[in-house]
Amino acid sequence: MVRAVVGANWGDEGKGKITDMLAEKADIIVRFQGGANAGHTIINDYGKFALHTLPSGVFYGHTTSIIGNGVALDIPVLCKEIQSIVDRGVPAPKILVSDRAQIVMSYHKNFDAYEEERLGGKSFGSTKSGIAPFYSDKYAKVGFQVSELFDEELLKEKVVRIAAQKNVLLSHLYHKPEINPDELYEELLEYKKMIEPYVCDTSLYLYQALKEGKEILLEGQLGTLKDPDHGIYPMVTSSSTLAAYGAIGAGIPPYEIKKVITVCKAYSSAVGAGAFVSEIFGEEADELRRRGGDGGEFGATTGRPRRMGWFDCVASKYGCRMQGATDVAFTVLDVLGYLDEIPVCVGYEIDGEVTTDFPVTHMLEKAKPVLKKLPGWKCDIKGIKTYEELPENCRKYIEFVEEQIGYPITMVSNGPGRDDIIYRV
Ligand code: GDP
Repeated sequence: MVRAVVGANWGDEGKGKITDMLAEKADIIVRFQGGANAGHTIINDYGKFALHTLPSGVFYGHTTSIIGNGVALDIPVLCKEIQSIVDRGVPAPKILVSDRAQIVMSYHKNFDAYEEERLGGKSFGSTKSGIAPFYSDKYAKVGFQVSELFDEELLKEKVVRIAAQKNVLLSHLYHKPEINPDELYEELLEYKKMIEPYVCDTSLYLYQALKEGKEILLEGQLGTLKDPDHGIYPMVTSSSTLAAYGAIGAGIPPYEIKKVITVCKAYSSAVGAGAFVSEIFGEEADELRRRGGDGGEFGATTGRPRRMGWFDCVASKYGCRMQGATDVAFTVLDVLGYLDEIPVCVGYEIDGEVTTDFPVTHMLEKAKPVLKKLPGWKCDIKGIKTYEELPENCRKYIEFVEEQIGYPITMVSNGPGRDDIIYRV
């Protein structure tokens, strides 16, 4: 069976923890989109890890980790990440990289930085990992596919063609140093050496695994609201963050995805620019940021402080709908234990009218939150193992959110660890 673990919000919902937890009973974990621009934080018996490229299941000896064709593959980052976990005592993971994945080149990162510089104050808040230039090139059909590393004649011809095209922009738009085709060729040979041991026809591998009845997890990066089609365009990422894309980015039939576990955080956080209706500021935000996640709400890749807000029922209902949620995993609920009252955004007021349907971006910019205050539970819920043991106000908070979003909350996460989970069936 295939299950997808995806985000309902802006990312950082705690997908890494949920994937790591579900991976215990999985055979294969697949990353199907995105690149090294975002990260998952995972806490387990080996310690605390921030992963950017490896799937969150790499810590188990029994799992195979796959980097699917839909991923923006940053080869040096991947290899460094493998080394860094092995150095900390994790058994060498079994990793397969799709021969159809495309490669993030050093010039993609440069272009990312140059474009942010050119845009100045109007920038998108990119992490400068090269993701947008990478996906632009993929769809403009000028990217390098892993399989091409093994065709030297093709590479020799292609580096000249690509350098010529990039150099026009480098010289005339950005006024930066040009790409030397020989150096580009060397870079690719270096990547070939590094990635060769992992390269595989991963869709065929998954096809066979499905025939054998293996348990497969697809791990998404970011969340619905960062999807290029259905998110807050243009303040989105460059690859689809939806479970539906899991079929394409992993190379499996869409009907094989039986469960879509949609991760929703009990309050909101976002990184980068863009409308964020339930955002809070000042001391109120600082306190939630400080207490949030595990050790504060700061980007796993960039260390940037995250923007904070109350739980947004409008955005999360939409987020779950676009994912096709079969289950909602409601995370980081323990963090809210300090509040006397917990505001929740239950509607958007736009031009004097209240809606609970998530609007397009230019309307979203005008939306003001309609807040409802729920009573807090004023205690630490970490360590609680059953739903019935949760304080009444905490259960009421969960049930209120569930009713507002219209999808079943079947898991409640009350701490960062693997075992901090309450199943609700
Ligand atoms: P992801 O990108 O969706 O995997 O999310 P991140 O890893 O960026 O952010 C989730 C953060 O919250 C991490 O630091 C996790 O260790 C932490 N976390 C996940 N679930 C819980 C939870 O239920 N309670 C607490 N306190 N922290 C959690």
